[in-house]
Amino acid sequence: MIRIAIANQKGGVGKTTTAINIATAMAAAGWKTLLIDLDPQGNASTGMGIDAEDRENSSYDLLVDQYPLADCISPTSIPGLDIVPATQDLSGAEVELVSVDDRTDRLRSALAGHTDHQICFIDCPPSLGLLTLNALGAADTLLVPLQCEFFALEGLSQLLQTVERVQQRFNPDLGIIGVALTMFDRRNRLTDQVADDVRDCLGDLVFQAVIPRNVRLSEAPSHGLPALVYDHSCAGSRAYMALARELIGRLPEERKAA
Ligand code: ADP
Ligand code: MG
Repeated sequence: MIRIAIANQKGGVGKTTTAINIATAMAAAGWKTLLIDLDPQGNASTGMGIDAEDRENSSYDLLVDQYPLADCISPTSIPGLDIVPATQDLSGAEVELVSVDDRTDRLRSALAGHTDHQICFIDCPPSLGLLTLNALGAADTLLVPLQCEFFALEGLSQLLQTVERVQQRFNPDLGIIGVALTMFDRRNRLTDQVADDVRDCLGDLVFQAVIPRNVRLSEAPSHGLPALVYDHSCAGSRAYMALARELIGRLPEERKAA
């Protein structure tokens, strides 16, 4: 299973929207896909239509109580897409895990040997705490949503430092598969300028597909549906389809068969 963490310690940059829609696009492309909600806010779970009262076993049980992964997976309404939902008690996990020895290794252990899915996406919380470290420790690679706004690059350098530390300490093979520009507004000259700066700075690491600011993307979660299902032809959905195609092109050939 290819494991991709969707991380950026800034809140509201499009992590969850990206996680939901790219996971849906991969499932639609025929990949057995798992979405792991690692944010105590549970936005990915809600956005997939999993009501809070229906979240029986969650990512908290997986990390803190070390339930088997299979027991924490729920189906979604999308064929080929399953989810490990998040509940509010996950917010306690940061504290509860502090004193355990393998605190940054819990997710990696939980996913080890899992072959029921071909790819998984881990939706991270907006911090660089233990939950995100677990995601970075478990991941093969990182997908970074970057909102086209003034301080975008500053936040990115902090994330890249964390990635370096994770590589040095416990996941030497962690890669970065790409940076996805989100909430792009072509009428706004500042976002245009930021997008140019980010490309100058990061080059090919930045995906060609750019996610526009699109109201359908923000409406979809309140219907418990990925935008790709809620309105598959809106500009936001089309952009996520393009991003998924590009992502597939960047995945290592030998892993695509696995
Ligand atoms: P994060 O997970 O990084 O906190 P979200 O994906 O939850 O970010 O996005 C933050 C808010 O912005 C949500 O209300 C979401 O619906 C909205 N949003 C995300 N991406 C877009 C977009 N491209 N266009 C319009 N609204 C968006
Ligand atoms: Mg989120």
